[in-house]
Amino acid sequence: MFEAFAADGRFWRGNLHGHSTGSDGAYSPDEVCARYRAAGYDFICVSDHFLARYGHPVTDTRPARGSGFTTLLGAELHAPATGQGELWHIVAAGLPADFAATGPDETGPDLARRATAAGAFVALAHPHWSQLTLADGQSVEVAHAVEVYNHKSAVEVDRGDGLVLYDALLHAGRRIGAIASDDSHHHEYDLFGGWVMVKAAENTPEALLAALKSGAYYASQGPEIRDVARDGDDLVIACSPAQSIVLAGPLTWRQRVLGDGLTGARFALEPEQGGWRRLIVRDAAGRRAWSNPLWLDA
Ligand SMILES: [Zn+2]
Ligand SMILES: [Zn+2]
Repeated sequence: MFEAFAADGRFWRGNLHGHSTGSDGAYSPDEVCARYRAAGYDFICVSDHFLARYGHPVTDTRPARGSGFTTLLGAELHAPATGQGELWHIVAAGLPADFAATGPDETGPDLARRATAAGAFVALAHPHWSQLTLADGQSVEVAHAVEVYNHKSAVEVDRGDGLVLYDALLHAGRRIGAIASDDSHHHEYDLFGGWVMVKAAENTPEALLAALKSGAYYASQGPEIRDVARDGDDLVIACSPAQSIVLAGPLTWRQRVLGDGLTGARFALEPEQGGWRRLIVRDAAGRRAWSNPLWLDA
């Protein structure tokens, strides 16, 4: 949380999870980039399915970089098998263009390990859609983030949230971030529903990737978290107009302010209670923004 708001620079809006004709998306990589750019995004990662039938693509979006827009190279990594026997879906943003094809014996956690070793920011995709268990989440010990909102899964099957797994991992002590993504494929309805706001000094792949790995971002469906500052044992928040501002912690710990047009809040952190605190801002349309956690012993 503090990484996002204390870091130098400004917030850049990006989608870390989406597909193109490099796998099963409807638009070419160029068109995907053009659509996001036209919608006001500063960067995206085209994360095509890293499967043999698509030639294990790390889709090259470098031609779309320039004039205020940039891209991270990446892929959605797949391997057998989650605790439920499903294929793993793991988003890796910041892969090298020559990331080697999946080996015959590689598992999801193996692939995630190889991706992070190659420099990528790695997130567990759509946990509810995949019905990931806590043991699944624990097994990918290198993951930087959980996709707490996946727009395509939300619209298509009402399984867009990853918050139950996310809180369970936090409760188990995992220091892990929260991203929101479109997972855009073919349809107008799976665009522009969830994104990350990354705080970095400049909108370059290197600066964005470093900021993501340091936790300097928040996830949103619409609301802006403009500032979060610690004032002694209080937390002072400024945000876009909201109906609820909630600070959630372990188990039942929470504080909240409810009202119309709220643009800020002050909460007592109660650091003696320990654990972590994370912020949720919800607007009048029900759209949410989620901060990364503040660990009170950090
Ligand atoms: Zn997926
Ligand atoms: Zn996907």
